Amino acid sequence: MQKFGSCCKDLYEAMIVPPQTFFRIEENEVLYLTIGYTQTDECVGWLDQAIIFCPFCGVQIQDREEIKNKSHVDNVSDAVS
Ligand SMILES: [Zn+2]
Repeated sequence: MQKFGSCCKDLYEAMIVPPQTFFRIEENEVLYLTIGYTQTDECVGWLDQAIIFCPFCGVQIQDREEIKNKSHVDNVSDAVS
């Protein structure tokens, strides 16, 4: 079921090591990379960006239209409250 990480060893290992990886696969099977967080009065919200290209080898691993169709958002998913 490992859809991502087949393009190169770097991505594969980045997703499994260390356990607290910044890569996350949602239920809709879109791969997200946590790129930062925002601090509000109440909580910390994480910013996740769906990635189109592997950050290590540059291979296209996701399609922008596909992500849009699956997630129903354009780019950055909103912060978790
Ligand atoms: Zn790669």
